[in-house]
Amino acid sequence: MKLLERKDVPLELTWDMSLIYPTEADYEKDKEKLKKLCEELTYYQGKLNDSDNIIACLKKYEEFLIVEDHLGSYASLPVSVDAYDRNAEKRYSLMATLFTECSAKLSFIESELSEADEKVLNQAIEKADGCANYLKDILRNKAHQLSPECEKMLSRLNRTLDASYDIYEKAKLADMRFDDFEVNGTKYPLGYSLFEDNYEYEVDTDIRRTAFKAFSDKIRQYENVTAACYDAYCLKEKEMAELRGFDSAIDADLFYQKVTREMYDRQIDMITNDLSPIMRKYARALKAVHHLDKMTFADLKLPLDSEYDPEVSIEQANEYIRNGLAILGDDYVSMVDEAFRNRWFDLAKNQGKETGGFCSSPYRKNSFILMSFNNKMSDVFTAAHELGHAGHFRACSNAQSLFDTWVSGYVIEAPSTMNELLLARYLLNSSDDKRFKRWVLSTLIQNTYYHNMVTHLREAWYQREVYKIIEKGESVNAEILNELFHRNLEVFWGDDVELNEGSELTWMRQPHYYMGLYSYCYSASLTVSTAASRLIEKEGAAAVERWKEMLKAGSTLGPIELAKLAGVDVTTDQPLRETIAYIGEIVDQICELTEEIDGIHID
Ligand SMILES: [Zn+2]
Repeated sequence: MKLLERKDVPLELTWDMSLIYPTEADYEKDKEKLKKLCEELTYYQGKLNDSDNIIACLKKYEEFLIVEDHLGSYASLPVSVDAYDRNAEKRYSLMATLFTECSAKLSFIESELSEADEKVLNQAIEKADGCANYLKDILRNKAHQLSPECEKMLSRLNRTLDASYDIYEKAKLADMRFDDFEVNGTKYPLGYSLFEDNYEYEVDTDIRRTAFKAFSDKIRQYENVTAACYDAYCLKEKEMAELRGFDSAIDADLFYQKVTREMYDRQIDMITNDLSPIMRKYARALKAVHHLDKMTFADLKLPLDSEYDPEVSIEQANEYIRNGLAILGDDYVSMVDEAFRNRWFDLAKNQGKETGGFCSSPYRKNSFILMSFNNKMSDVFTAAHELGHAGHFRACSNAQSLFDTWVSGYVIEAPSTMNELLLARYLLNSSDDKRFKRWVLSTLIQNTYYHNMVTHLREAWYQREVYKIIEKGESVNAEILNELFHRNLEVFWGDDVELNEGSELTWMRQPHYYMGLYSYCYSASLTVSTAASRLIEKEGAAAVERWKEMLKAGSTLGPIELAKLAGVDVTTDQPLRETIAYIGEIVDQICELTEEIDGIHID
């Protein structure tokens, strides 16, 4: 079960980087093109208080950004699948240096635009083709822009200011080496993704809980460095926000996401209060079905009915997703098939590969999806999820300029979670078997709602508390963060879940904290997709069309308007209230089915 080295994994399980550049020479050629475009752009320095110059400059700037996007993906993606690949690392580092140089040279664009007369900007917006929204945002952000000298200095410090994320990832992926752990005389290998992808779902209670302890003991050795790294990040966020004239880091992030404070707080508070009793009932169901002595934090990811977790091949995964998403139309289905056929996925499991999953979509190229395939049904949901991002970016990048594909985090996970909901609905309708139905419903809770509305939402609750401390001018350390996260879990799970030693370290496991206010966005997006998926259920084709219009719109609209386009009004609490009620119905159905199948009653 020892993880393979990257060089030993089968080619068909890896993504095909030649889909961006067929050869290394093509990559080098584009690097030269980037430098040339950068030089050409400097022609506009000092000339951006004129609407024609603005339009011409942004046209070229878009070209520059597209090449940068392609180069960046080509250089960074190989590092994400193999942290030990020295060549890839060197290429990435050279690329990062080049980007930093370019961005310092080009920082005048944003600062001159911010300094430009409002009248000139409005003229440019009138004439603009593809960059109108970018210019509108420049106008909107004007008040928070610093002097050109300051902006230039900050952009030169970019890599240093963003260093905490790299340091965090290095500690986690390159430095942490896990020892085997032992249960009843048998030794088991341990690793970050082995733990998160396998042992957390392990049905054998001794193995599962011992793995949790071994994992926690190892990551605890890094708690101080991780906390210091996070503290530095939070401090930077606070200082940057204040420098730019915001009241707090949270206000700054929400401003750029185009989300109100009320919408943000509502997700955290309402889910904490109203979803908690529902998820506790689900936890009691898990305990009863598995005849556990007690329910602990280490047991929460157990599949409800492990016998109904059939092995799935990659071909079957393709088939399930094709059928599940057929409602989205033939063009969507052909993208799904193309993704499997042309190796958009990196499905391998190897040493030094990033954990979790992501989808990277260079402009008007295919997407690249990182995940590991363990032949589980949950992998099918992950693949459908990531394909949701691929479908979203394909729709909006084909329809919009690059500037209009920068979608707000508030809705960015809606297309992906929509696919999970559609897949589940397809599976539910494909059989009358009670156990199968219960298995699908519990998978929906386990994969979709638990992940997005519990795991990531607890992160959001915790993050809001950390920022309160930072706003007071204080700093955080491992002791404070552990205490906070313990309280966070206690608030939600109460007496129904015992918090094993190590559960307070869960804050160490997520890279989201280095991405501004990202954690709460999962629940916000899932609220939009749940509400819209119910409209699709009720209205069929008309609601599908609205959904696809929303995908296509990219960032030509803000998150509130995008949701509205799909028929969901997120300025009120109704969609969230409905979503929580819907989760409650699913859990009730699971409990009823459990009574019928196993004769076990759950209160
Ligand atoms: Zn996602």
